[in-house]
Amino acid sequence: MAPRFVFVTGGVASSLGKGIAAAGLGTLLRARGLNVALMKLDPYINIDPGTMSPFQHGEVFVTDDGAETDLDLGHYERFTDQPTSSMSNITTGQIYDSVIRKERRGAYLGATVQVIPHITDEIKARIFKLGRESKCDILLVEIGGTVGDIESQPFLEAIRQIPHDVGKENCLFLHLTLLPYLGAAGELKTKPTQHSVRMLREIGIQPDGIICRTDIRMSPDQRRKIALFCDVDQRAVFESTNVNVIYEVPLMLHQQALDNWVVTKLGMITHDAEVAEWKRLVDRIKGAKETIRVGVVGKYIELQDAYKSIYEALDHGAAHHGVRLETERIDSEVTNPASLADALSKVDGILIPGGFGSRGIEGKVFAANFAREKGIPFFGICLGMQVALIAFAREVCGLPEANSKEFNEVTQDPVIDLMESQKAVLDLGGTMRLGAYPCAIKAGTKVADAYRERQITERHRHRYEVNNKYIETFEKNGMIIAGRFEESDLVEIVEYPNHPWYIGCQFHPEFKSRPLSPHPLFRDFIGAVTESRRAKETAAGEKLVSNN
Ligand code: GLN
Repeated sequence: MAPRFVFVTGGVASSLGKGIAAAGLGTLLRARGLNVALMKLDPYINIDPGTMSPFQHGEVFVTDDGAETDLDLGHYERFTDQPTSSMSNITTGQIYDSVIRKERRGAYLGATVQVIPHITDEIKARIFKLGRESKCDILLVEIGGTVGDIESQPFLEAIRQIPHDVGKENCLFLHLTLLPYLGAAGELKTKPTQHSVRMLREIGIQPDGIICRTDIRMSPDQRRKIALFCDVDQRAVFESTNVNVIYEVPLMLHQQALDNWVVTKLGMITHDAEVAEWKRLVDRIKGAKETIRVGVVGKYIELQDAYKSIYEALDHGAAHHGVRLETERIDSEVTNPASLADALSKVDGILIPGGFGSRGIEGKVFAANFAREKGIPFFGICLGMQVALIAFAREVCGLPEANSKEFNEVTQDPVIDLMESQKAVLDLGGTMRLGAYPCAIKAGTKVADAYRERQITERHRHRYEVNNKYIETFEKNGMIIAGRFEESDLVEIVEYPNHPWYIGCQFHPEFKSRPLSPHPLFRDFIGAVTESRRAKETAAGEKLVSNN
């Protein structure tokens, strides 16, 4: 069966949570027993976000097949619990790159190569390819940016054409817009939505349904007005109000029968959506009373999206243990160790995420030592693992000059070195060690307890690795190599055993964590943090009793 298509466009403002809305709808369609695939069309000219700064783009999400992609793919995977791939995120850069290569090969047989039809055909070909290869019943296609942007026009034109290719009855257009709340008027305003729908109609797209992002609930009158002015059915005006827990979004959309409306419009017959486990999850998150605090030590701490999957994975672990997580974002660039120590001593667990470049490194090394010495549960991810080893080499192994070659090319003890396979690499885009690789786990470790498996696969994004020349020194001083990629003899996981929980991994486990099945390492890290918090409270209680 050829797939049906749901196109999700955005209007009025960016950052409305189109990705979460699309993922939320994906969850509901999956819960109705349908096969669903999601993809994101990004209008920027970069081939992928891999070379962009976190200030520009937030996190780079990595797929199993090693694509560096938009963070919305993280939402897709977390909500629908199925992997995406390099086919799930296309950019203007990729489209032009492939059209220009074809032109150079002479594939256009003398034609003048134009936006319509050549660019739009290439966009459509990518959409149809995913539809075919994923064997999905419904392909949800999110168009990045906001209607009216110059960049997104070829993408909008491409999706405008698709109903002509596959039949109007097989396509649905959903437009997500903002209803701004004007405090002075005390109401939500619908005019910007009317204008953005008018812009869509000017380019030939009539939305079938509208999802309104609002701070407060819409009135029936506003719903009628939007339906009338935007020429949609009143039952096709949905709202998405702010929620505290993002995993409530599918439930909120289900309450308004969005999924029922979609399948009915597409002429599909399914059972009702089974959302009981999502309800239980949200209840568990909201009902949590005990609070734990995890410090995330990084240099993009002020950016909401820079460590998106890490924050989500921590939340999954907290939901599993029924605790309320407060993440303390700790800036690794503070130059005063006393203030860093002060911030670190206030948390129950410390996590150092991935990163690039030397800025803020010494603060991270300090935090890794602090956690090890004070017995604070510690989780180092990618760069976080590398700094944990630098810290260990300097403080415990008697190598005060230990460093990574990334930060000091001439260090006398390069405990972290450039991977052999990276030495000839010149281009920065798409050239790291990327995607899923297997890893063999050492028996008898906390890591083995967590995974309950001896062979795992995890996703990577790095150029540097543990220098094997130092493994003996590390082991002699008590660090365990708990996971290896045997084929290339790469250290993938380290564990310090004389400690409540001190683990570092070269890969990014956060990409594989799901709300309903937290990643084993995040789950057990949060378990250790919770125990450590309880032990502190018990000790504080006993002290109080003995003082009285
Ligand atoms: N900068 C380090 C490397 O390239 C770590 C990368 C990361 O944390 N993703 O190896």
